[in-house]
Amino acid sequence: MKNTFDHPLPNEEGFFGEYGGSFIPEQLQAIMQEIDAAYREIRQDPEFLSQLTELYQHYVGRPSPVFHAKNLSKKYGTDIYLKREDLNHTGAHKINHCLGEALLAKKMGKKKLIAETGAGQHGVALATAAALVGLECDIYMGEVDIKKEHPNVVRMHILGANVIPATHGRKTLKEAVDAAFEAYLKDPVTQLYAIGSVVGPHPFPMMVRDFQSIVGNEAKEQFNSMTGGLPGNIVACVGGGSNAMGIFSAFLDDKEVKLHGVEPSGRNLDEDGEHAATLTKGEPGIMHGFKSYMLKDADGEPQEVYSVASGLDYPSVGPQHAYLKDIQRVNYEHINDKEAIDAFFELSRLEGIIPAIESSHAVAYALKLAQSGEKGSILVNLSGRGDKDIDFVVENYGKDYGIPSLP
Ligand SMILES: *Cc1c(COP(=O)(O)O)cnc(C)c1O
Repeated sequence: MKNTFDHPLPNEEGFFGEYGGSFIPEQLQAIMQEIDAAYREIRQDPEFLSQLTELYQHYVGRPSPVFHAKNLSKKYGTDIYLKREDLNHTGAHKINHCLGEALLAKKMGKKKLIAETGAGQHGVALATAAALVGLECDIYMGEVDIKKEHPNVVRMHILGANVIPATHGRKTLKEAVDAAFEAYLKDPVTQLYAIGSVVGPHPFPMMVRDFQSIVGNEAKEQFNSMTGGLPGNIVACVGGGSNAMGIFSAFLDDKEVKLHGVEPSGRNLDEDGEHAATLTKGEPGIMHGFKSYMLKDADGEPQEVYSVASGLDYPSVGPQHAYLKDIQRVNYEHINDKEAIDAFFELSRLEGIIPAIESSHAVAYALKLAQSGEKGSILVNLSGRGDKDIDFVVENYGKDYGIPSLP
């Protein structure tokens, strides 16, 4: 693996322009600095890099393919390609950073990994990595998500992790972050908080992006060998923003490649609490230890947010996305529940690939872009597979798509 960890941003203090940084209690500053120092050391360490490469190849199954979706391309009038992160072991892109974080924790002599999870994908990926490298694992998860994402909860238990419910507020991702943060504050020495996206205080937005940059680096090479050039457009869904940063990071300097980040507009973009379109509707603020765009309520507190995709309902977003929005390098768009579910079935029925509902937001925007007359090719980061979502989708939307009620 070429060293993919060299990026101009963030600066030493973890800022991407005015965003990012580390706004955390004094007692945690020292710990974050320790993690930063340990990370800067290992990312230069040939032994660590070859360990990670070995796991990416033989455990995760990397490189994940780029697939030319010819049936979609034909129907929608432009070439559409999929970067198949759904084929990774554990079914999504999250394993890429979880293995990095687990190896880092092990090197630092930590005993336990802790984290929050939304759709359960980060929890499963982290529980997997913890099992592999031999660490304990506590996963905090909103009670609502525990019910909705039952198969992933079962997986975490089987993998030997503890699943701890967050029972306050809307009982979803934001509350899970609160609970995990609280637990971390109690013992930041033997535990490592393995944040699930490019969010949180420095160095996490940098570190998680670096571990995910394998996605963009592979895709760039694969796309070039398939077509002899660069894609015209890249589309990725944005929750915290890790799969998007992973694929965007390799193309930031290729100004001819248009980058599109897709947020969830949920049930209603014009009503607070009915969407999670942070970059579209939010404003700069500080939450969970970093500065970025955020959705605030009337009291300036994090807003309650909603999306049909549990992995996208977070009221802030990675600080590098805030920066990329302000400098207009990335175009941020939104897709609602209905459009995402349409795309879920469209990809399933035209290509035989059942996408995660999160990833369906990216697919939906790609189809919209193609229908708008865009002729440049479109590379979609298919961040995960839909196995975890099938019961939910059939129960709630099946009859609209010709599926009889099942016993
Ligand atoms: C968690 C998740 C996301 C959202 O997280 P990002 O950090 O924005 O990538 C998207 N897709 C899938 C399949 C996920 O599991």
